Amino acid sequence: MKPNVKKLPGLKSQKILNKVKNLNLGWNHPYPFIHSNKGQGCYFYDIDNNLFLDFASQIASNPLGYNHPDLKKIIKQHSNRHPIKFAGQDFTIKEHIDLLEELLTITPKILNKAFLINSGAEAVENSIKTCMKKRPKTKFGLSFKGDFHGRTLGALSLTHSKEVYTKDYLKIKTKTLPFNENAKDSLLKLIKKHSSEEIGFIIFEPIQGEGGYNVASKKMVKDLRKITKQHNIPLISDEVQSGVGRTGKWWGIENFNITPEVISSAKALQVGAIITNKSFTPEPGAISSTWGGGHLLDLVLGLETIKVIKRKRLLNNIKKIGNYLRKRLIEMNALNPRGIGLMQAFDLKNKKLRDDVIMECLKQGLVLLGCGHKGIRLIPPYITSRTEIDQAIDILNSSIKECSKKYFKHKGEICNYLNCANT
Ligand code: PLP
Repeated sequence: MKPNVKKLPGLKSQKILNKVKNLNLGWNHPYPFIHSNKGQGCYFYDIDNNLFLDFASQIASNPLGYNHPDLKKIIKQHSNRHPIKFAGQDFTIKEHIDLLEELLTITPKILNKAFLINSGAEAVENSIKTCMKKRPKTKFGLSFKGDFHGRTLGALSLTHSKEVYTKDYLKIKTKTLPFNENAKDSLLKLIKKHSSEEIGFIIFEPIQGEGGYNVASKKMVKDLRKITKQHNIPLISDEVQSGVGRTGKWWGIENFNITPEVISSAKALQVGAIITNKSFTPEPGAISSTWGGGHLLDLVLGLETIKVIKRKRLLNNIKKIGNYLRKRLIEMNALNPRGIGLMQAFDLKNKKLRDDVIMECLKQGLVLLGCGHKGIRLIPPYITSRTEIDQAIDILNSSIKECSKKYFKHKGEICNYLNCANT
């Protein structure tokens, strides 16, 4: 297969997008196509028959690609059931337990109890709530400069990646550490000024996602672990983006050889989850949600996703193919290539060039996402091959060349969609 885009957006997509623009309160220029249900592996068709190569994986939430036969089989097995959504914390279904059991086979032994919830932000919310229950003297929590933890108000209070996410919203009490080796000194100063008991938790992303695919320094993580252990401060590894295999290990934090007190997960798992030790169990009723852990399809797809990763030994492929992707990025002289496994990124000279390149790649059929101020992230499905990586690199190379021309401007239908002429 090879990406092939005739017109972007196509007529059918444009019609739907116009309606979405008028009706969707959260409108933020979605990608200029509407998905069809046709596709295979890393490729999908839109409803205008354009064929795309997906290196964004539905923002890391579609780890096995399109129309995966094992996942389709599972959906078929359950297609005759109703309801699909149960009030799962109160009215448990067997599939809830199946996923919990499977999830606990891929987490460090000491993290032996989990809680399922609807989304990544809710996983973060419940991670911090669980820590606060254990630390009733909590006055504030800590996160890192550049972090993204989600858009509910608690998670947002810990998010610093872009101003538009946080402006005008109330916050819970938090403080921010630098995402580098100075974090140790900042933390020690805070502990000196306040009692350590007032620090309810420290949350961090081992590889910052939205904030730029910045890989944490090994020394920073080691220092953090040492100090938090000494002072009994729970450490939360937010693995909503880096977890469930993306880095070639089940959890991003395993690349740092430490175990946190809590892991938050979602995206690739198909369900939000927190995983922790039994000693963090809050009193009954303290955490819950109607649909948390009760969407039948999410549960069975999450379970099958883990099983497919095991069965097909995909962690090995992620490591191998991730190295190949990194090698190709270095060969194309990408600025500041970084990441682990199939969680890779690089920078362009500035934000405008980055945005232009993402759009130009899309016109050539390659779907990418930005990250940080001027970064492009490459997060293909775990089943991606060298051929697909070569296709992506070819499109990237030609797009960067085109967009770097002195008076470059996008041309065609895409300009109407993006209002390019007015910017
Ligand atoms: N935490 C991290 C590290 C994320 O990358 C995200 C989403 O991108 C979230 C939390 C929030 O997840 P969701 O969008 O499912 O609420």
